[in-house]
Amino acid sequence: MPPHDRPMRQQLASDNYAGLCPEALAALEQANQGHAPSYGQDRWTAEACDQFRALFETPCEVFFVFNGTAANALALASLCQSYHSIICHRHAHVETDECGAPEFFSHGAKLLLADGHNGKLDPASVEEIVTRRGDIHYPKPRVISLTQATELGTVYTPAELQSIRQVARQHDLKLHLDGARFANAVAALDLPPRALTVECGIDVLCFGGSKNGLAVGEAVLFFDLAAAEEFAYRCKQAGQLASKMRFLAAQWLGLLKDGAWLRHAAHANHCAALLEEALRALPEVELMFPRQANAVFARLPEAAITTLRQRGWCSIPSSAWAARG
Ligand SMILES: *Cc1c(COP(=O)(O)O)cnc(C)c1O
Repeated sequence: MPPHDRPMRQQLASDNYAGLCPEALAALEQANQGHAPSYGQDRWTAEACDQFRALFETPCEVFFVFNGTAANALALASLCQSYHSIICHRHAHVETDECGAPEFFSHGAKLLLADGHNGKLDPASVEEIVTRRGDIHYPKPRVISLTQATELGTVYTPAELQSIRQVARQHDLKLHLDGARFANAVAALDLPPRALTVECGIDVLCFGGSKNGLAVGEAVLFFDLAAAEEFAYRCKQAGQLASKMRFLAAQWLGLLKDGAWLRHAAHANHCAALLEEALRALPEVELMFPRQANAVFARLPEAAITTLRQRGWCSIPSSAWAARG
Protein backbone atom coordinates (compact mmCIF):
# COMPACT_ATOMS: atom_id res chain seq x y z
CA MET A 1 0.00 0.00 0.00
CA PRO A 2 1.27 3.49 -0.74
CA PRO A 3 2.06 5.79 2.17
CA HIS A 4 -0.95 7.49 3.75
CA ASP A 5 0.39 11.04 3.62
CA ARG A 6 -0.30 11.54 -0.05
CA PRO A 7 -3.34 10.76 -2.17
CA MET A 8 -3.48 7.38 -3.82
CA ARG A 9 -3.36 7.55 -7.60
CA GLN A 10 -6.26 6.36 -9.70
CA GLN A 11 -6.99 2.68 -9.19
CA LEU A 12 -8.91 0.09 -11.15
CA ALA A 13 -9.78 -2.23 -8.28
CA SER A 14 -13.28 -0.95 -7.53
CA ASP A 15 -15.56 1.92 -8.51
CA ASN A 16 -15.65 2.77 -4.81
CA TYR A 17 -11.99 3.78 -4.68
CA ALA A 18 -13.00 7.03 -6.40
CA GLY A 19 -13.99 10.17 -4.53
CA LEU A 20 -17.06 12.33 -5.06
CA CYS A 21 -17.97 13.83 -8.38
CA PRO A 22 -17.87 17.65 -8.33
CA GLU A 23 -21.64 17.92 -8.76
CA ALA A 24 -22.29 15.88 -5.62
CA LEU A 25 -19.70 17.81 -3.65
CA ALA A 26 -21.14 21.17 -4.73
CA ALA A 27 -24.65 19.98 -3.86
CA LEU A 28 -23.50 19.04 -0.36
CA GLU A 29 -22.07 22.51 0.07
CA GLN A 30 -25.32 24.10 -1.11
CA ALA A 31 -27.43 21.95 1.21
CA ASN A 32 -25.24 22.96 4.13
CA GLN A 33 -26.93 26.33 4.54
CA GLY A 34 -28.83 27.02 7.71
CA HIS A 35 -31.20 24.61 9.36
CA ALA A 36 -33.62 22.23 7.68
CA PRO A 37 -36.20 19.71 8.90
CA SER A 38 -34.77 16.26 9.66
CA TYR A 39 -35.61 12.68 8.66
CA GLY A 40 -36.53 13.47 5.06
CA GLN A 41 -38.97 16.30 5.69
CA ASP A 42 -36.65 18.79 3.95
CA ARG A 43 -37.04 20.36 0.52
CA TRP A 44 -33.98 18.61 -1.00
CA THR A 45 -35.49 15.21 -0.31
CA ALA A 46 -38.87 16.20 -1.77
CA GLU A 47 -37.18 17.61 -4.86
CA ALA A 48 -34.92 14.57 -5.38
CA CYS A 49 -37.96 12.27 -5.22
CA ASP A 50 -39.69 14.43 -7.84
CA GLN A 51 -36.58 14.37 -10.02
CA PHE A 52 -36.64 10.57 -9.99
CA ARG A 53 -40.32 10.57 -10.97
CA ALA A 54 -39.49 12.91 -13.84
CA LEU A 55 -36.51 10.82 -14.92
CA PHE A 56 -38.52 7.60 -15.02
CA GLU A 57 -41.64 9.39 -16.28
CA THR A 58 -43.83 7.57 -13.82
CA PRO A 59 -45.18 7.85 -10.29
CA CYS A 60 -42.89 5.96 -7.91
CA GLU A 61 -42.10 5.89 -4.21
CA VAL A 62 -38.50 6.85 -3.48
CA PHE A 63 -36.37 6.13 -0.42
CA PHE A 64 -32.74 6.90 0.35
CA VAL A 65 -30.53 4.47 2.24
CA PHE A 66 -26.83 4.43 3.02
CA ASN A 67 -25.59 1.59 0.84
CA GLY A 68 -26.39 -1.04 -1.73
CA THR A 69 -26.56 -3.97 0.63
CA ALA A 70 -29.26 -2.24 2.67
CA ALA A 71 -31.11 -1.17 -0.48
CA ASN A 72 -31.18 -4.72 -1.86
CA ALA A 73 -31.87 -6.51 1.40
CA LEU A 74 -34.68 -4.18 2.48
CA ALA A 75 -36.23 -4.04 -0.99
CA LEU A 76 -36.23 -7.82 -1.23
CA ALA A 77 -37.58 -8.18 2.29
CA SER A 78 -40.46 -5.88 1.37
CA LEU A 79 -41.42 -8.22 -1.50
CA CYS A 80 -41.18 -11.43 0.52
CA GLN A 81 -42.61 -13.34 3.41
CA SER A 82 -40.12 -15.36 5.43
CA TYR A 83 -41.18 -18.61 3.72
CA HIS A 84 -40.62 -17.24 0.21
CA SER A 85 -37.63 -17.64 -2.08
CA ILE A 86 -35.75 -15.23 -4.32
CA ILE A 87 -34.25 -16.43 -7.57
CA CYS A 88 -30.98 -14.79 -8.52
CA HIS A 89 -27.86 -15.52 -10.54
CA ARG A 90 -25.24 -17.55 -8.71
CA HIS A 91 -22.82 -14.61 -9.12
CA ALA A 92 -25.36 -12.05 -7.87
CA HIS A 93 -24.09 -9.57 -5.29
CA VAL A 94 -27.06 -10.45 -3.04
CA GLU A 95 -25.71 -14.01 -2.93
CA THR A 96 -21.95 -13.53 -2.91
CA ASP A 97 -21.27 -10.18 -1.24
CA GLU A 98 -23.98 -9.24 1.25
CA CYS A 99 -23.18 -11.51 4.17
CA GLY A 100 -26.68 -12.98 4.10
CA ALA A 101 -28.39 -9.59 4.49
CA PRO A 102 -31.37 -10.44 2.22
CA GLU A 103 -32.00 -13.62 4.24
CA PHE A 104 -31.49 -11.73 7.51
CA PHE A 105 -33.81 -8.83 6.75
CA SER A 106 -36.48 -11.08 5.25
CA HIS A 107 -36.26 -13.32 8.30
CA GLY A 108 -35.51 -16.42 6.30
CA ALA A 109 -36.37 -16.03 2.62
CA LYS A 110 -34.04 -18.33 0.71
CA LEU A 111 -31.98 -17.37 -2.31
CA LEU A 112 -32.22 -19.93 -5.10
CA LEU A 113 -29.31 -19.78 -7.51
CA ALA A 114 -29.89 -19.83 -11.24
CA ASP A 115 -27.42 -19.99 -14.10
CA GLY A 116 -26.81 -18.02 -17.23
CA HIS A 117 -23.92 -16.96 -19.45
CA ASN A 118 -21.83 -13.92 -18.59
CA GLY A 119 -23.62 -13.16 -15.34
CA LYS A 120 -27.06 -12.86 -16.94
CA LEU A 121 -29.99 -14.95 -15.75
CA ASP A 122 -31.11 -17.50 -18.30
CA PRO A 123 -34.96 -17.54 -18.36
CA ALA A 124 -34.92 -21.32 -18.83
CA SER A 125 -32.82 -21.74 -15.69
CA VAL A 126 -35.23 -19.52 -13.75
CA GLU A 127 -38.19 -21.48 -15.10
CA GLU A 128 -36.54 -24.75 -14.11
CA ILE A 129 -36.08 -23.55 -10.52
CA VAL A 130 -39.60 -22.19 -10.25
CA THR A 131 -41.25 -25.35 -11.58
CA ARG A 132 -38.91 -27.84 -9.88
CA ARG A 133 -41.10 -28.08 -6.81
CA GLY A 134 -44.57 -26.96 -5.93
CA ASP A 135 -44.99 -28.59 -2.58
CA ILE A 136 -45.27 -27.20 0.92
CA HIS A 137 -41.78 -28.41 1.86
CA TYR A 138 -39.95 -25.98 -0.39
CA PRO A 139 -39.79 -22.17 -0.05
CA LYS A 140 -42.31 -20.60 -2.39
CA PRO A 141 -40.68 -18.62 -5.25
CA ARG A 142 -41.71 -14.99 -4.94
CA VAL A 143 -39.09 -12.72 -6.52
CA ILE A 144 -36.59 -12.72 -9.35
CA SER A 145 -33.61 -10.51 -8.59
CA LEU A 146 -31.62 -9.18 -11.54
CA THR A 147 -28.46 -7.07 -11.61
CA GLN A 148 -28.01 -4.36 -14.25
CA ALA A 149 -25.18 -3.93 -15.22
CA THR A 150 -24.30 -7.45 -14.03
CA GLU A 151 -21.56 -8.45 -11.63
CA LEU A 152 -19.53 -9.63 -14.63
CA GLY A 153 -19.77 -6.30 -16.44
CA THR A 154 -22.40 -7.31 -18.97
CA VAL A 155 -25.71 -5.67 -19.73
CA TYR A 156 -29.22 -7.11 -20.20
CA THR A 157 -30.92 -5.88 -23.36
CA PRO A 158 -34.61 -4.88 -23.12
CA ALA A 159 -35.48 -8.08 -25.02
CA GLU A 160 -33.63 -10.17 -22.42
CA LEU A 161 -35.41 -8.33 -19.63
CA GLN A 162 -38.74 -9.01 -21.36
CA SER A 163 -38.04 -12.77 -21.45
CA ILE A 164 -37.34 -12.75 -17.73
CA ARG A 165 -40.48 -10.72 -17.21
CA GLN A 166 -42.47 -13.35 -19.06
CA VAL A 167 -41.33 -16.04 -16.65
CA ALA A 168 -42.15 -13.73 -13.75
CA ARG A 169 -45.63 -13.07 -15.11
CA GLN A 170 -46.32 -16.73 -15.72
CA HIS A 171 -45.47 -17.64 -12.15
CA ASP A 172 -46.66 -14.52 -10.37
CA LEU A 173 -43.17 -13.39 -9.32
CA LYS A 174 -42.01 -9.88 -8.49
CA LEU A 175 -38.97 -8.32 -10.19
CA HIS A 176 -36.18 -6.66 -8.23
CA LEU A 177 -33.32 -4.89 -9.98
CA ASP A 178 -29.97 -4.38 -8.28
CA GLY A 179 -28.80 -1.26 -10.07
CA ALA A 180 -25.53 -0.56 -8.28
CA ARG A 181 -24.30 0.21 -11.83
CA PHE A 182 -27.67 1.04 -13.36
CA ALA A 183 -26.26 4.31 -14.73
CA ASN A 184 -23.57 2.41 -16.64
CA ALA A 185 -26.19 0.12 -18.15
CA VAL A 186 -28.37 3.06 -19.23
CA ALA A 187 -25.35 4.77 -20.78
CA ALA A 188 -24.30 1.56 -22.54
CA LEU A 189 -27.73 0.94 -24.04
CA ASP A 190 -28.52 4.59 -24.71
CA LEU A 191 -32.17 4.16 -23.80
CA PRO A 192 -34.46 6.09 -21.45
CA PRO A 193 -34.26 4.64 -17.90
CA ARG A 194 -37.92 3.66 -18.03
CA ALA A 195 -37.27 1.38 -21.03
CA LEU A 196 -35.08 -0.80 -18.78
CA THR A 197 -37.33 -0.74 -15.73
CA VAL A 198 -40.97 0.34 -15.83
CA GLU A 199 -41.46 -1.00 -19.34
CA CYS A 200 -39.86 -4.32 -18.39
CA GLY A 201 -42.09 -4.85 -15.36
CA ILE A 202 -39.47 -4.06 -12.72
CA ASP A 203 -41.22 -3.62 -9.36
CA VAL A 204 -38.31 -2.23 -7.34
CA LEU A 205 -35.05 -0.67 -8.50
CA CYS A 206 -32.06 -0.11 -6.24
CA PHE A 207 -30.41 2.79 -8.04
CA GLY A 208 -26.73 3.02 -7.16
CA GLY A 209 -25.26 6.35 -6.22
CA SER A 210 -21.93 5.50 -4.57
CA LYS A 211 -20.41 3.93 -7.68
CA ASN A 212 -21.64 6.84 -9.77
CA GLY A 213 -19.96 9.58 -7.73
CA LEU A 214 -21.80 10.07 -4.43
CA ALA A 215 -20.07 9.94 -1.07
CA VAL A 216 -22.76 7.64 0.22
CA GLY A 217 -26.31 6.70 -0.59
CA GLU A 218 -28.49 4.64 -2.86
CA ALA A 219 -32.04 5.30 -3.93
CA VAL A 220 -34.74 2.64 -3.70
CA LEU A 221 -37.47 3.23 -6.27
CA PHE A 222 -40.77 1.37 -5.98
CA PHE A 223 -42.68 1.30 -9.25
CA ASP A 224 -45.04 -1.11 -7.50
CA LEU A 225 -46.50 1.50 -5.18
CA ALA A 226 -48.28 -1.02 -2.94
CA ALA A 227 -44.95 -2.74 -2.17
CA ALA A 228 -43.63 0.55 -0.76
CA GLU A 229 -46.21 0.59 2.01
CA GLU A 230 -44.48 0.70 5.38
CA PHE A 231 -41.04 0.56 3.72
CA ALA A 232 -40.09 3.64 5.73
CA TYR A 233 -40.51 1.62 8.94
CA ARG A 234 -38.26 -1.09 7.53
CA CYS A 235 -35.57 1.52 6.80
CA LYS A 236 -35.82 3.03 10.26
CA GLN A 237 -35.69 -0.32 12.02
CA ALA A 238 -32.65 -1.35 9.98
CA GLY A 239 -30.77 1.82 10.95
CA GLN A 240 -31.11 3.18 7.42
CA LEU A 241 -33.14 6.32 8.05
CA ALA A 242 -30.74 9.26 7.83
CA SER A 243 -31.60 11.97 10.31
CA LYS A 244 -29.85 14.54 8.12
CA MET A 245 -31.49 13.14 5.00
CA ARG A 246 -30.95 16.36 3.09
CA PHE A 247 -27.30 15.42 2.56
CA LEU A 248 -28.18 12.10 0.92
CA ALA A 249 -30.87 13.70 -1.22
CA ALA A 250 -28.92 16.81 -2.17
CA GLN A 251 -26.10 14.75 -3.65
CA TRP A 252 -28.65 13.08 -5.90
CA LEU A 253 -29.94 16.47 -7.00
CA GLY A 254 -26.39 17.36 -8.05
CA LEU A 255 -26.00 14.08 -9.89
CA LEU A 256 -29.37 14.15 -11.65
CA LYS A 257 -29.09 17.78 -12.74
CA ASP A 258 -28.26 18.20 -16.43
CA GLY A 259 -27.65 14.45 -16.76
CA ALA A 260 -24.36 14.40 -14.81
CA TRP A 261 -25.11 10.82 -13.69
CA LEU A 262 -25.31 9.66 -17.28
CA ARG A 263 -22.29 11.65 -18.44
CA HIS A 264 -20.09 10.17 -15.72
CA ALA A 265 -21.35 6.67 -16.44
CA ALA A 266 -20.73 7.06 -20.17
CA HIS A 267 -17.23 8.33 -19.42
CA ALA A 268 -16.53 5.32 -17.18
CA ASN A 269 -17.81 2.97 -19.91
CA HIS A 270 -15.60 4.72 -22.46
CA CYS A 271 -12.51 4.38 -20.27
CA ALA A 272 -13.28 0.68 -19.75
CA ALA A 273 -13.51 0.30 -23.53
CA LEU A 274 -10.06 1.88 -23.90
CA LEU A 275 -8.63 -0.47 -21.29
CA GLU A 276 -10.25 -3.42 -23.01
CA GLU A 277 -8.74 -2.39 -26.33
CA ALA A 278 -5.26 -2.03 -24.85
CA LEU A 279 -5.50 -5.39 -23.08
CA ARG A 280 -6.70 -7.10 -26.24
CA ALA A 281 -3.35 -6.27 -27.82
CA LEU A 282 -1.53 -8.37 -25.18
CA PRO A 283 -1.47 -12.06 -26.07
CA GLU A 284 -0.80 -13.08 -22.42
CA VAL A 285 -4.01 -11.49 -21.25
CA GLU A 286 -7.35 -13.22 -21.48
CA LEU A 287 -10.51 -11.16 -21.35
CA MET A 288 -13.02 -13.20 -19.38
CA PHE A 289 -16.38 -11.67 -20.30
CA PRO A 290 -17.68 -9.26 -22.93
CA ARG A 291 -17.05 -5.69 -21.77
CA GLN A 292 -20.41 -3.96 -22.02
CA ALA A 293 -20.33 -1.37 -19.23
CA ASN A 294 -17.55 -0.02 -17.00
CA ALA A 295 -15.91 -3.25 -15.85
CA VAL A 296 -13.15 -5.24 -17.52
CA PHE A 297 -12.33 -8.70 -16.20
CA ALA A 298 -8.96 -9.96 -17.35
CA ARG A 299 -6.95 -13.04 -16.49
CA LEU A 300 -3.25 -12.11 -16.17
CA PRO A 301 -0.16 -14.24 -15.69
CA GLU A 302 0.78 -14.52 -11.97
CA ALA A 303 4.09 -12.75 -12.59
CA ALA A 304 2.29 -9.78 -14.14
CA ILE A 305 -0.06 -9.56 -11.14
CA THR A 306 2.90 -9.55 -8.75
CA THR A 307 4.65 -6.80 -10.71
CA LEU A 308 1.51 -4.68 -10.91
CA ARG A 309 1.02 -5.01 -7.14
CA GLN A 310 4.64 -3.99 -6.55
CA ARG A 311 4.01 -0.91 -8.66
CA GLY A 312 1.17 0.12 -6.41
CA TRP A 313 -1.86 -1.21 -8.26
CA CYS A 314 -4.55 -2.57 -5.97
CA SER A 315 -6.89 -5.40 -6.74
CA ILE A 316 -9.73 -7.15 -4.98
CA PRO A 317 -8.38 -10.28 -3.22
CA SER A 318 -8.04 -13.09 -5.72
CA SER A 319 -9.55 -15.48 -3.16
CA ALA A 320 -12.88 -13.72 -3.62
CA TRP A 321 -12.68 -14.43 -7.33
CA ALA A 322 -11.30 -17.93 -7.03
CA ALA A 323 -14.38 -18.78 -4.99
CA ARG A 324 -16.56 -17.70 -7.89
CA GLY A 325 -14.97 -20.26 -10.21
C1 LIG B 1 -21.30 -2.46 -5.05
C2 LIG B 1 -22.51 -3.28 -5.31
C3 LIG B 1 -23.61 -3.23 -4.45
C4 LIG B 1 -23.65 -2.39 -3.19
O1 LIG B 1 -22.69 -2.69 -2.27
P1 LIG B 1 -22.51 -1.86 -0.90
O2 LIG B 1 -21.08 -2.11 -0.56
O3 LIG B 1 -23.43 -2.46 0.09
O4 LIG B 1 -22.84 -0.44 -1.17
C5 LIG B 1 -24.74 -3.95 -4.78
N1 LIG B 1 -24.79 -4.69 -5.90
C6 LIG B 1 -23.76 -4.76 -6.76
C7 LIG B 1 -23.90 -5.54 -8.02
C8 LIG B 1 -22.57 -4.07 -6.48
O5 LIG B 1 -21.56 -4.15 -7.34
